[in-house]
Amino acid sequence: MPIVECPACKSRDLYDIEQVRSEAGDSVNGVVDFHLFADYGLHGEMGWMGQKNKMISLAVSARVCGACGHASLFAKDLEMLKDLAAKRLVRKVPATK
Ligand SMILES: [Zn+2]
Repeated sequence: MPIVECPACKSRDLYDIEQVRSEAGDSVNGVVDFHLFADYGLHGEMGWMGQKNKMISLAVSARVCGACGHASLFAKDLEMLKDLAAKRLVRKVPATK
């Protein structure tokens, strides 16, 4: 995790949430993992109906400030993020000088 103090209030009272989850709207007591990106992509293997698809999703962890509640999300798989950008499924922000 890259931050050691809250970017909003500068507090160092921080908490980590390794697996960010949300309530599943269609299920009593159900939860689902929160992802920044999720889609079906090509698997690279052929099946009997053609090329197989697989779920591509970018899971996140969170660091939350105990003083003000500010939450920062962190992608867990940066190689997948770069791969998604190469496939133009997410947009890489141009570097500024
Ligand atoms: Zn804070």
